[in-house]
Amino acid sequence: MCGTEWADIDAFLDDPSLEICGYMADFGKLERGLFFFNHLTEDCHTTLTIFTGQFIGLYNGTRFTERRTGKEDCPGYCLDKNQLDRCDAFCECAFSREVIQIIKARQGKYRTR
Ligand SMILES: [Zn+2]
Repeated sequence: MCGTEWADIDAFLDDPSLEICGYMADFGKLERGLFFFNHLTEDCHTTLTIFTGQFIGLYNGTRFTERRTGKEDCPGYCLDKNQLDRCDAFCECAFSREVIQIIKARQGKYRTR
């Protein structure tokens, strides 16, 4: 909203004024989910959204192909936009949550809620 532009993903992730604050899963296509970031500068303080697909290359680990949403091993995290914890289900959507942990680590923010 403030017009700030970041040269690349690295510049974005290393910007201390950005804080990941939400994740909304797209149950149709994983890459079209949204990450929400607060832009914590004095003149901005708005939330911006980025498609999960932009960050998907950050994580090279296991990617499950099955979706477990609503099944017995699903904690339902993806239904809560503010829930950013890692998910232990063998679920396609758990992948996005691994990406979130990487983003959090890059931003140096390990706040617990
Ligand atoms: Zn801004």
